[in-house]
This record gives sequence, structure tokens and C-alpha cells, in this order.
Amino acid sequence: MEVDRKEILRYLGYGREQEEGPVTPLIDSCVEELSASAEPKHLSREYELRLLPGSRIDGSCFQTESRSLSRNLKDCSQVIVFAATLGMGVDLLIQKYSKLQMSRAVVLQATAAAMIEEYCNGACGQMRQIYEGEGLYLRPRFSPGYGDFPLRCQPDLLDGLEAGKRLGIKLTDSYLMMPSKSVTAVIGVSRKPHRCQVKGCEACEKTDCVYRRDSI
Ligand code: SF4
Repeated sequence: MEVDRKEILRYLGYGREQEEGPVTPLIDSCVEELSASAEPKHLSREYELRLLPGSRIDGSCFQTESRSLSRNLKDCSQVIVFAATLGMGVDLLIQKYSKLQMSRAVVLQATAAAMIEEYCNGACGQMRQIYEGEGLYLRPRFSPGYGDFPLRCQPDLLDGLEAGKRLGIKLTDSYLMMPSKSVTAVIGVSRKPHRCQVKGCEACEKTDCVYRRDSI
């Protein structure tokens, strides 16, 4: 599985421009071991969207109030609910090395975090192409916990996809997902032409964009 090496370094706490150096062989073997353990899967489903006064949002399967998400979804009439996971095998591998070799467990964590992002980017990139063929434009994915989009929306998003049954994603009482390398997100769909960077607003050069995924 392809993984953005600069993202792995970033998750490890190096700057984005940092060269790999001595950690390269460890990253290589972590990518290899994770690729053998990961079972990446994703689901998506489109819902009607209503943006209401007071930053209230009705996404059919979830309702919330969020200034940052309302701004990102402006001019959208539908919303795609999205979930992806690398599966429990990755968690078990990281747990195993947490007991045997902590340095490897740390690199595995960073590599798995970059891996799920890369997988989501690929899945969303494919959706983007399909939608653009129909004259529709996708916003970058926006996950609960980002800005003021509350984590308590997680159960509704997962239920909207039947992700417990179909992807095996469970939630803890504090809304953390198991398997831990899992993602939920919403993605706005608009008829208004606007091409977004699939890696999201942080990687996008349109700094004056009105839909930008600012923190709040
Ligand atoms: S800043 Fe870029 S990625 Fe973010 S909403 Fe605007 S165009 Fe899309």
C-alpha cells in the first residue's frame, strides 16, 4: 500500500521538509508489516442536507450545530457520510510491539495514521471523479472533532452507514473508534463549480476560499 513518507515523518514529529535518514529502514519494514496486517475498507452514503439558521445542520442521518461545518457546507444540497478503517489487525500489531519494542510501536502508530489518511484520500479522490462526471463538486472531508463539529455525532454517522455491522467499527463511551485507525467524515456535495484539493484545506493553496475548513 502506498503511504506518503512525509506524512509519516510529520506524525513522528519531524518537520515536513525533514529527510528520512537513519529511520528509513524502520519505516520501510513498518510499511511492509502494516500492509500485510491492514484490511482497509470504506463505506459512503449520500443524504439530503439542510443548512438552517444559527449554524444548525440537518444531514438527515445526523443533526448538529457547528459554525465551522456550516461554513464548509455552504452552497451544498447533499452530504456524503463516509467511514473507513484499516481493521483490527493493525491495532493488534501495534499492541504487540508496545510490549516488545516501543520504538517500533511508535513508528507503526505514525505509519498507520498516514496509511488511513492516504486510503481515505484515494477513496475520496475516486468519488470526486464520479461526482464531477455528473456536474457535482465535493468539499474536503470534515470529521467530528474538527473545529466545533461535535464528537457526539459519531454514533449517528456510523449508524447512517451501518458501519458497526459492515465495517466492524465500534465506539467507546467517549466516542473513540475501535479499530483505532478508523475515520468518519461528512463531505459536502454542491452544483456550484469549485474544485477542492483531495488532501484537504491544509494542503490547499486557496487561502481566501469562503468554504475553507477553518478551525471555527
Ligand atoms: S480551501 Fe481548498 S480544499 Fe478547502 S474548501 Fe476551499 S478549495 Fe476546498
